[in-house]
Amino acid sequence: MSGDLKIGILGAAGRMGQMNIRQVALTDGCVLAGAIARKGSEAVGQDAGLLAGVGLLDVPITEDAAKMISNVDVVVDFTLPDVAVEVAQLASQAKVALIAGTTGLSPEQETEYHKAAQYVPVVRAANTSVGVTLLIALAEQAAKLLDIEYDIEVLEMHHRHKIDAPSGTALALGEGLARGRGVELADVKQAVRDGHTGERRPGDIGFATLRGGDVAGEHEVIFAAEGERITLGHKASSRQVFAAGAIRAAVWTWRKSPGLYTMRHVLGFED
Ligand code: NAD
Repeated sequence: MSGDLKIGILGAAGRMGQMNIRQVALTDGCVLAGAIARKGSEAVGQDAGLLAGVGLLDVPITEDAAKMISNVDVVVDFTLPDVAVEVAQLASQAKVALIAGTTGLSPEQETEYHKAAQYVPVVRAANTSVGVTLLIALAEQAAKLLDIEYDIEVLEMHHRHKIDAPSGTALALGEGLARGRGVELADVKQAVRDGHTGERRPGDIGFATLRGGDVAGEHEVIFAAEGERITLGHKASSRQVFAAGAIRAAVWTWRKSPGLYTMRHVLGFED
């Protein structure tokens, strides 16, 4: 029996699922131990490695998430909010670490991660890239240093298939900016502007969403004052950066205590 870290992937036929399978195959010390697709998906029964374009891995894609999760060390979930909630419950029951990458969960659904984190390590990351983790830290710091005269706007663009808005990353940036300002995002969030909106409310954090084509993910934070504008930004040109971060996070969870972690912990930005 090998001492490799056994990783299970949810959403094996999805854009990120396939990237994650590829990344596991490329990472020393890891082995793909299971891959789950949606029930009834054409991918069920196919070899996960062949489907992801990395050659035969001898891991058939299955549809029983509970069974798969009970046979792995860590599970990586990039699927849909309802699936994410179920995976959080299964991971905590099976005492399996969780990398939680799905976005668009309601605040109530997010509480499942807090519950699971009492029993297992959970890395909750709306964006697993190194660049965005750094961007959130920089944005928080800038918001702390700049006063309310600097209006904050978050602009994001993603591919046409994305189903939630603003993106989880834009909201994570908003949370960081609100932390920097010492306010609650819910009190200052301005996600939609349409029609006769009136003047901008001082202190609001605004969001603007663009959708189109195959954009992997672009985010910009704008601090706009009278006479000057500061912008911080990140552009992902490939989903590979998200998969690299997700599998790095999976490796990091090995022998970690239960708890709710972020990519800041994984990358050593925070103890
Ligand atoms: P996608 O639609 O390509 O993939 C989702 C997959 O989940 C689909 O193949 C779907 O069939 C599958 N699925 C549905 N129900 C399932 C079930 N019960 N069991 C297993 N699989 C099931 O979407 P995507 O672009 O891969 O994105 C997936 C999620 O990841 C989204 O929420 C997206 O915002 C998020 N995401 C996060 C990051 C990050 O860095 N954290 C990066 C990119 C995307």
